[in-house]
Amino acid sequence: MFQKILIANRGEIALRVLRAAKELGIQTVVVHSTADADAMHVRLADESVCIGPPPSRDSYLNIHQIVAACEITGADAVHPGYGFLSENAKFADILAAHNITFIGPSGDHIRVMGDKIEAKRTAKRLGIPVVPGSDGAVSDEGEAKRIAAAIGYPVIIKASAGGGGRGMKVARSETDLVEALQTARSEAGAAFGDDAVYIEKYLEKPRHIEIQVFGDGAGKGIHLGERDCSLQRRHQKVWEEANSPALNEEQRTQIGGICSRAIADLGYSGAGTIEFLYENGEFYFIEMNTRLQVEHPVTEAITGIDLVHEQIRVASGGGLSVRQEDIRFHGHAIECRINAEDPKTFVPSPGTITHFHTPGGLGVRVDSGVYSGYRIPPYYDSLIGKLIVHGRNRVECMMRLRRALDEFVVDGINTTLPLFRELVGNPDIANGDYDIHWLEKHLAETQ
Ligand code: ADP
Repeated sequence: MFQKILIANRGEIALRVLRAAKELGIQTVVVHSTADADAMHVRLADESVCIGPPPSRDSYLNIHQIVAACEITGADAVHPGYGFLSENAKFADILAAHNITFIGPSGDHIRVMGDKIEAKRTAKRLGIPVVPGSDGAVSDEGEAKRIAAAIGYPVIIKASAGGGGRGMKVARSETDLVEALQTARSEAGAAFGDDAVYIEKYLEKPRHIEIQVFGDGAGKGIHLGERDCSLQRRHQKVWEEANSPALNEEQRTQIGGICSRAIADLGYSGAGTIEFLYENGEFYFIEMNTRLQVEHPVTEAITGIDLVHEQIRVASGGGLSVRQEDIRFHGHAIECRINAEDPKTFVPSPGTITHFHTPGGLGVRVDSGVYSGYRIPPYYDSLIGKLIVHGRNRVECMMRLRRALDEFVVDGINTTLPLFRELVGNPDIANGDYDIHWLEKHLAETQ
């Protein structure tokens, strides 16, 4: 087991990882920017190192400073959290070269899954169902037209280096296609420095369903069921649940089996998420995230398994603590991402939290790095906390969620809490009857 883990992140996820490390009796080091000197993860860590000024590129993305912090403190492993350097293959390689363990997969696996064309090719080879589309990058207009005609309109053009929903364009006809191809390529080039794009069938009313997987790096793979993350705004997840209201046990076992076998074949190590669009009973792979996800607590709630403990165990060579046949899914869990944003306009709302009171009671978990009197710096993501609620079934979970949302108090700044108080009373949400476009449509109708 590791002696000392350095946490290369901030906010709620830094605290989440810190708690897991402490439970395992491992010393913790956190790094922080000058803007985060007062952050909760800095207060609770055994040691902290200031690695630079507020902008992420000078601090949380500064590989040299982070490696130096490991050497100064003698950390033997790094947990990257999500975002920042968590899917940076170069970072994983550099740590390996310094004999520091990256708590995550190999640099090579990160690289393959970070290139969407390569990821899709790999998924297909491993027997994972993919969205019909081009086999690789498409640059030629004539070729694009032939592929689109073959799979049928509408189609979506996506950037191979894409992320965060950028560089995607939908084309509903051949006339649209020519323009969409050009715009997607120039957007991708500007945003990612790589203008390779590919074509996929555009699914009109899919759900977003993702499978949590784990590999031990030695040919064993397991799955921990799915999460339904269909409630999204601008391709950002807002509300996540497990299990999906749309799947039955048989579908869960089938897609989970496909994913765990793929992970085993790949020799993958650590936590991963295989993301699908789901429509008319079919799954279509869109991407794999080679890290812990923001929404991992809903899986923890229904399985009782601490995913960060597992990540640390696997990375230290201790293997997985569970076998597939030991994993059971209990009840239902929902997570709401609470952002420091105006609940109508979604404009970020940094500033001082004058009062912070979290709900409690059976089945209620709050993962947050903020506290009363905390000043939210304006430089980072607006996520200030996650409310995760568990119940014996979806109805109980929704009742508990409504109660927990009523108890939650955040004063001094705007948050998205009012949006969730409204969603929890909506009949479509109550029935689990929504797709990836539902929330945007709902917001457009109610604003
Ligand atoms: P990113 O890495 O930029 O987030 P993804 O490939 O994960 O890109 O896609 C993000 C979102 O875009 C999906 O959750 C979905 O809402 C939409 N999307 C992607 N591919 C398709 C498709 N083929 N049909 C319909 N919507 C899609």
